[in-house]
Amino acid sequence: MAEAPSLRIALGSIFIECNQLGGVPTDLGCFERCELRRGDEILKQDTGVVGGMSGVLRERQSEIVPLLVATACPSGALTADCHAQLKGELLQRLRDALPIDGLLLALHGAAAANGTGDLEGDLLAAVREITGPDLPIVVTLDLHAHITEAMVRLADALVAWETYPHRDAFTTGERGARLLLDIIDGKVRPTMAMAKVPVLTGSVHGNTEGDGPFAEIMRQAKSHEHSGAALSTSVLHVYPYLDLPDLGSGGLAITNDDPAAAERIAIELANHYWAKRFDMEPEVFTPAEAIKRGLAIEGGPVLLVETADCCGGGAAGDSVATLRQLLEMDIREPCLVPVVDPEAAQRCHEHAPGSTFSISLGHALDPRWGEPLQLTAELTAISNGAFRYTGGFWNGQPGDMGASAVLKVGAIQMLVMSNPTYDWADEQFQSLGLHAKDAKFVVVKNPMNFRVGYQHIAKAALILDTPGPTPATLRGVRYQNLQRPYFPADEDIPEFKPVLLRSWDV
Ligand SMILES: [Zn+2]
Repeated sequence: MAEAPSLRIALGSIFIECNQLGGVPTDLGCFERCELRRGDEILKQDTGVVGGMSGVLRERQSEIVPLLVATACPSGALTADCHAQLKGELLQRLRDALPIDGLLLALHGAAAANGTGDLEGDLLAAVREITGPDLPIVVTLDLHAHITEAMVRLADALVAWETYPHRDAFTTGERGARLLLDIIDGKVRPTMAMAKVPVLTGSVHGNTEGDGPFAEIMRQAKSHEHSGAALSTSVLHVYPYLDLPDLGSGGLAITNDDPAAAERIAIELANHYWAKRFDMEPEVFTPAEAIKRGLAIEGGPVLLVETADCCGGGAAGDSVATLRQLLEMDIREPCLVPVVDPEAAQRCHEHAPGSTFSISLGHALDPRWGEPLQLTAELTAISNGAFRYTGGFWNGQPGDMGASAVLKVGAIQMLVMSNPTYDWADEQFQSLGLHAKDAKFVVVKNPMNFRVGYQHIAKAALILDTPGPTPATLRGVRYQNLQRPYFPADEDIPEFKPVLLRSWDV
């Protein structure tokens, strides 16, 4: 008996979050340093979203047609060259792969390039030119995605992470692949609706663990999956460091040939989001206030959360705002501070550990947000900056800080790195022998993942209000393209209604 021919499923990824308020432009080197796989190299990948997709396709005896997988640490918008190269290569490989039965794309949802604020919508439009309107296409997204009309119209289904901190890239890949196969098998016919509310908040209260406002909305969303009312639900906490007219958070529902239910669920989630908006705003402190409060707490570490300089949100990581305050207040207890500064790191590598020299530190990559510090410091360690991620999207994969060093002024130790890298836990500190448990103050530059690295040892975490492109609150940000009204600039909007995007509106 002849075997049924196996399905040919193409798989590709361009995954990055792009800051339009600051940060450094993203070039091809950023992807080469992080992850750039082609063809068969993709088939070896057994972690992350692509690993999850591949696992399901293998289990169902589908033939995987690998295209291009390009991921990088969040940063500024892609340069025109970088965008053209990655998009061009993915599309060419797709043309070469035809005919196929379906396409899986692992995208972020908040990528931008010079010339387009909606890299994903632009990519999907180009993909549809090649595949035509009927090929089943499922896209996985970060839950910080900016959902656009083009994405809802051009993909058969959009499936976002369910967790933040992001622990579920692999299982989201599995969800996406299963849904695609069910569509191809004719078991389901997706109808998708997204309802958006103009709520733009930082990530401090955006966790899905515990009883926070976002966790509550996510549980409500997932109840519609568990009841069988929806094939997939997502709650999107839009990445607020884009500057686009149609930014919004809210709910996305995919039902099986039931547009009315998709619309009802999406609107219910968006209204819930709007009702919770005040709970998403954090309490913030100046560095001086936070240090004073920290000194009143017995023991350590106390985390000084400088969210405005978050490499994981696209900032350069080169701020010294909190470091400056620790030095000015002459803190004599051990402190750890990370600073990205390639020139300073290079200078450190010209000296031998044990030597003392003067050095300029900070604001070298993105000078919009502050002045460098002039220090006389002792060099205590150097490294090539290699480390390995212990979780998150790049779980198990290598990270690359580039030439790195530890500088010491009194009891304050500074980890100086050449490249911005994603903060999952404390891998960067650990790789140079810096241990947070021994410190009184640790400066962390991520609004959420400090819960992963330090939750069992931290005595307190204080959220700082400092200059930078990834601030804890958007209250004071001057957007160029985003129009008011939006929360938190406007606390209430008369006759407010969510904006609806529907896959069946052509
Ligand atoms: Zn995210």
